Amino acid sequence: MTIFTKIINREIQADIVYEDEQCLAFRDVNPQAPVHVLLIPKKPVKSLDELTESDRALCGHLMLTVPKVAGLLGLSGGYRTVINTGAHGGQSVFHLHIHILGARDLTWPPG
Ligand code: AMP
Repeated sequence: MTIFTKIINREIQADIVYEDEQCLAFRDVNPQAPVHVLLIPKKPVKSLDELTESDRALCGHLMLTVPKVAGLLGLSGGYRTVINTGAHGGQSVFHLHIHILGARDLTWPPG
């Protein structure tokens, strides 16, 4: 079980900004932008690499939820989404999550 499952189960505290039956969004504890939220499925999928055909609808739901959460957070000027995958991708928590970053100008390429 990862720390994100504990957040879903309310075993540890997080600043939750959105929740529905399939997913949860909460503020990153170490924000890299004025708005930095993590959107996660409640299903404990480890990473993009662990997704299967049975997760097709869940993936669509997550993607459609990103702009909904961005709208709730007032990111009308745009935002960045990031999914880190595996060790080389910089993933540190092995529960799939979409970073939503905004409220500042973001540069490219990322580090
Ligand atoms: P990643 O490196 O892509 O796996 O991202 C994991 C993110 O989870 C990092 O940005 C961490 O700051 C964040 N994080 C870790 N623990 C917590 C927590 N308890 N509450 C909120 N965010 C967390």
